[in-house]
Amino acid sequence: MNGLVSLIGAGPGNPELLTLLGKRRLEEADVIVYDRLVNPAMLAPYAAEKIDVGKLPLHHKVSQYQINDMLVDLSKAGKRVARLKAGDPYVFGRGGEEGQYLSKNKIPFEVVPGLTSAIAGLAAAGIPITHRDFASSFHVITGHRKSNGKELDWENIAHQEGTIVFLMGMAQLPTITQELMAHGMADTTPVAVVQWATHWKQRAVPSDLANIVKLVEETKITSPALIVVGGVVQLMGDLQPHQPLQGLHLLIPYKQDSKLCNALQDEGAAVNFFDRRVKRPLAFDLPDFNAGGTLIVIDFAAFHYFQERLLTMGIDNRALTNWKLVACNHIVKYRLQQDGLLADELYDPQKLDYQRPVVFIGEKTALTSYKPAIKADYLATYQSETVDQSIDLNAFHGIVFPSSAAVADLYTGCTSDEQELMRHMRCFAMGQTVADECQKRGLQNVIEVKPSYDNVIQTVRKVFAR
Ligand code: SAH
Repeated sequence: MNGLVSLIGAGPGNPELLTLLGKRRLEEADVIVYDRLVNPAMLAPYAAEKIDVGKLPLHHKVSQYQINDMLVDLSKAGKRVARLKAGDPYVFGRGGEEGQYLSKNKIPFEVVPGLTSAIAGLAAAGIPITHRDFASSFHVITGHRKSNGKELDWENIAHQEGTIVFLMGMAQLPTITQELMAHGMADTTPVAVVQWATHWKQRAVPSDLANIVKLVEETKITSPALIVVGGVVQLMGDLQPHQPLQGLHLLIPYKQDSKLCNALQDEGAAVNFFDRRVKRPLAFDLPDFNAGGTLIVIDFAAFHYFQERLLTMGIDNRALTNWKLVACNHIVKYRLQQDGLLADELYDPQKLDYQRPVVFIGEKTALTSYKPAIKADYLATYQSETVDQSIDLNAFHGIVFPSSAAVADLYTGCTSDEQELMRHMRCFAMGQTVADECQKRGLQNVIEVKPSYDNVIQTVRKVFAR
């Protein structure tokens, strides 16, 4: 049976600006086919295979024809496909064309609307697209030259009363401003350019028609950006949030700690987090459950794969009745408890009973550090692999490290120049082990913070005098 293809709007960038239906479709998907502008941080939580059609090896872009065929082929292979597009899929996203092609090929599809950057992106920069005092209509226009060579109707555009928003217009910014002025718009008309709206690297500059080109050059604002023309731009000053960490860019090199990200974002910081690692499930043999013994859980994800395997065999946690369950640390203990399992004790190598089988469950590489134990079995249920991600450290005021793994991952994933930069960057290490890891890597500007969100926020505020 053909799988459903959902054309989903990802919203302007912040992963939380996705709709609930969009989120559910991403959870259900077998494959996510996404565009260049989709925030990679948004994809981290989903298990589906991910295909980036905005960027292929050797920088080849996948053509629209190839994308259309890919969607049809995946559906025909019975896959549920989430076709994730920035903003709203039907706003300059060629979503309409994809829908037409699917329809022509009798592929079941739906559209899940998203927040378009044309409206939500402006709002995020403090610009309401309409306002009673300034604009009673708005016009969203592509700055891209049309393929048929036809020019935009500048005479018409320049005489609109409402707000004008240009998408894909940065390369044409000088033309846009010149044409508007040439067709009678005052050179003092307010204009703003908003880059990467709702992403952590959002920046916005207000100016006017006569000066915006120069300002954009000076401030190095780049694509993707929205160009907004009209009186509403003057409201930017009034509509800025006043939060203590506003304007501060922090990097959290760890995907799981979204609560920490939220806590910092709620204080106004722009936070980028990312996952340098992916988990690849491994094949493994199950222990002889009847024998009983001790099961040591090194990390919860590993246990999760173990449980999944049990379920595919038609058994569940009750198979562990004869086993002592040992959690490697408090976090694992807590996660097990959330899953309805009470750990019998915390891991202590001295206390292990080797008269009966001892089985460690963990990630493949992590398990090697437990090898000295005698007569134990090791179940590697998954392998953690690093993902290449280039990250511009210069764009951040500081780094918050929630774990030693986060320090190791970021440091080892950086080039030697980046490592040099990192050595002098302001770093916050959550707990002593993490601070030790920073020291081991030669980071010189590290503050150790007691590992709680409140402490991180207080310390960040103090350090940056907020
Ligand atoms: N479907 C999208 C638009 C796709 S066209 C939507 O509804 O938003 C791509 C253009 O959208 C970019 O060139 C840029 O002008 C704009 N854009 C998309 N996301 C943006 C963002 N987060 N910040 C600024 N501009 C953005």
